[in-house]
Amino acid sequence: MSADKQALLLNHHLKKLKMPTMLREYEKMAALCRTERADYPQYLFRLTEVELLDRERRSKERRIRDAGFPVLKSLDTFDFKAQPSINQELVRELMRGEYIDQKENILLIGNSGTGKTHLATALAFQACCQGRAVRFFTATGLVTQLLESREEKQLARFHRQLARLHLIVLDELGYVPFSKAGAELLFECVSRAYECTSLIVTTNLPFENWIEVMGSERMTGALLDRLTHRVHILEANGQSFRLADSKKRLKQMDRKP
Ligand code: ADP
Ligand code: MG
Repeated sequence: MSADKQALLLNHHLKKLKMPTMLREYEKMAALCRTERADYPQYLFRLTEVELLDRERRSKERRIRDAGFPVLKSLDTFDFKAQPSINQELVRELMRGEYIDQKENILLIGNSGTGKTHLATALAFQACCQGRAVRFFTATGLVTQLLESREEKQLARFHRQLARLHLIVLDELGYVPFSKAGAELLFECVSRAYECTSLIVTTNLPFENWIEVMGSERMTGALLDRLTHRVHILEANGQSFRLADSKKRLKQMDRKP
């Protein structure tokens, strides 16, 4: 076989085998291995390693994209001193992600601007990095999607999609009350996730006020029962970071000549 034909076939094989990185790198790597006098198994080892690393990077990027975070946040940028009520030790332990293997939930409770969404995003982002399938929803966003799916007779399909996830974030439960149908669909979601998929819920509502959002007392009880059976609670009761930040900015502007 001529060298040209062989190269053509090799390119074809690597494409068929879905090895884009090996395809891109094999010539460069061959040249490198020749100069380093690396043997054939070394060459193959290096080539498969770059393919594997690249594949892991791509799937991590895909998981982060699919999670649908509104803004990416990490723990590095979270100032625990600004919010001393938050249990830093627990946050750091949760970052390890074992709660997801245990199908446990996290509840972040506190006033507006205390970093609940920031922490929920940082935890969920970390889960993506650990190879887990994640979706971020606002509570109203999820309820809207559930109602739309039902309308389009796609509810079962949507539930199947959710069931494939390891972690679901439900952000901002409590700001807007749900319709009866919306509350029932949300309850069904939480019920299905129970002991199967971890949930991170952020809310400004103490438990006794959840009924205002869910409507029915019986359903609120049943929802809280499932949500809190195996739960880690992070409470933030400090002042709003947004407010403190704007005050600081205003002060700085005052000081400027
Ligand atoms: P919440 O969801 O509790 O209303 P957010 O998480 O949206 O609050 O926080 C509001 C803004 O303030 C975001 O930009 C967030 O990154 C920032 N923020 C809040 N708390 C902290 C903190 N302790 N350290 C750094 N940034 C914070
Ligand atoms: Mg928030």
